[in-house]
Amino acid sequence: MARRRRIYEGKAKVLFEGPEPGTLVQYFKDDATAFNNQKRGVITGKGVLNNRISEYLMLRLAEIGIPTHFVRRLNMREQLVREVEIIPIEVVVRNTVAGSLAKRFGIEEGQALPRSIIEYYYKNDQLGDPMVSEEHITAFGWATPQDLDDILNLSLRINDFLMGLFLGVGMKLVDFKLEFGRLWENEEMRIVLADEISPDNCRIWDAKTNEKMDKDRFRRDLGGVAEAYQEVARRLGILPEGGVGGDMAGPKTIQ
Ligand code: UDP
Repeated sequence: MARRRRIYEGKAKVLFEGPEPGTLVQYFKDDATAFNNQKRGVITGKGVLNNRISEYLMLRLAEIGIPTHFVRRLNMREQLVREVEIIPIEVVVRNTVAGSLAKRFGIEEGQALPRSIIEYYYKNDQLGDPMVSEEHITAFGWATPQDLDDILNLSLRINDFLMGLFLGVGMKLVDFKLEFGRLWENEEMRIVLADEISPDNCRIWDAKTNEKMDKDRFRRDLGGVAEAYQEVARRLGILPEGGVGGDMAGPKTIQ
């Protein structure tokens, strides 16, 4: 079988050339990294679950008019996406104090924020993704003021929608990271949501117990990482058919 051209390999995903010009195949790996690559591991079945979870969330977001790069899921570990020019900014949206925000200001994790906070980080592993302001972003030309306006508006809409969606199935969306890209269609440029939305880049807590159901279980050696991702999928009602193909023990039934 002819091998597809590998366009890019990241920590948790590989991008291959797609079947038509302007498309890519996004392959989800089981590899996990944290603390800027210092901690590495494999979470068996994670790629299958993230492929499904991200598909579901991108489709739901598209339904409310959020433009995304997602086209369709191809198989257990792959999805077809539109090729976009990634804006080198990680947009973090926070609803509850956790992670680096708690650390930076010495605030205990778990405090609800009076309003959602948006932060920007420059995507650069060598520099450890430094936090940047809008001024840096526009001065260095990573995005225009108009791009940033779109990114901020989309991020807030995504946050409102996802917070409600998760809360409806007993989960609290504490914070998450988004990436956006530029998509050209007939000379016109649109900013679209790219990358993935999954427990790899969200903090999700059980709404009643505050139990962590995301990558913090890996970062903090809490155990039960794959089970937590599976529980997120189960609550969203999207466990892959027949579990994750023998990758993980004990698939639970939906509902
Ligand atoms: N995040 C991410 N990729 C990064 C940094 C952060 O997906 O390179 C996500 C992370 O999973 C969390 C949110 O962004 O949901 C906020 O992360 P934070 O700034 O607290 O950093 P961390 O504690 O992950 O170092």
